[in-house]
Amino acid sequence: MGQIELKDIRKSFGGVEVIKGIDLQIDEGELVIFVGPSGCGKSTLLRLISGLVEASDGQIIIDGDDVTGKPPAERELSMVFQSYALYPHKSVRENMGFALTVAGMPKSDITAKVDEAAATLKLEDYLDRKPKALSGGQRQRVAIGRAIVREPRAFLFDEPLSNLDAALRVEMRLEIARLHRKLGATMVYVTHDQVEAMTLADKIVVLQAGQIEQIGSPLDLYRNPGNLFVAQFIGSPK
Ligand code: ADP
Ligand code: MG
Repeated sequence: MGQIELKDIRKSFGGVEVIKGIDLQIDEGELVIFVGPSGCGKSTLLRLISGLVEASDGQIIIDGDDVTGKPPAERELSMVFQSYALYPHKSVRENMGFALTVAGMPKSDITAKVDEAAATLKLEDYLDRKPKALSGGQRQRVAIGRAIVREPRAFLFDEPLSNLDAALRVEMRLEIARLHRKLGATMVYVTHDQVEAMTLADKIVVLQAGQIEQIGSPLDLYRNPGNLFVAQFIGSPK
């Protein structure tokens, strides 16, 4: 579960190609991070995987199924955005279970799934609160909880920590690392923060202008940056 393959994926907006032929294999259970400067195509690539953006060319294969052209709902992936977009008038429990309610799951099953996710995220004591009564970190946890209850094949994160202050960012980074170990789930994570990438990733994909500059483990990239751009971006000594 959660193997994702991109084959020569391309995307143009108004005749301008912003994703220029990406080939990438993401293995089951891997935490893969897309890094690169603003505008290099990180969010677009994640949206292509999720189905929020349709590819101009190429193929996307998830667990052996060709999902190219399929809508997001049929891809069984969960996306976590930087703006958590919680429903302000619903409780934490209702926010976390909302997608399951819409899908028509029996109430007792929803309760069980929300309770389990809340325990994983240490939100048990906050289930009856409204989002405004939560801290930024707790809200972010609710947004992640909403993704967990859907039991996706993979989690997609687009700069999930960029709205948080520095201390909270460190805390949530550790939280995501813990969650990844605990769930063993495939995670694809976009950030422009090198520290986040270097500390969290199993595999880093360095993007520049819609193309892959280099793929490797944090240590690989640090020790053997393929070019000056990667070296400068990763902050390696060469
Ligand atoms: P990043 O997330 O790395 O900052 P994006 O994927 O958001 O980069 O954007 C990559 C390029 O694609 C940018 O030049 C951006 O302006 C352009 N782009 C992204 N989405 C759209 C869109 N919906 N319409 C037109 N251009 C877009
Ligand atoms: Mg972006």
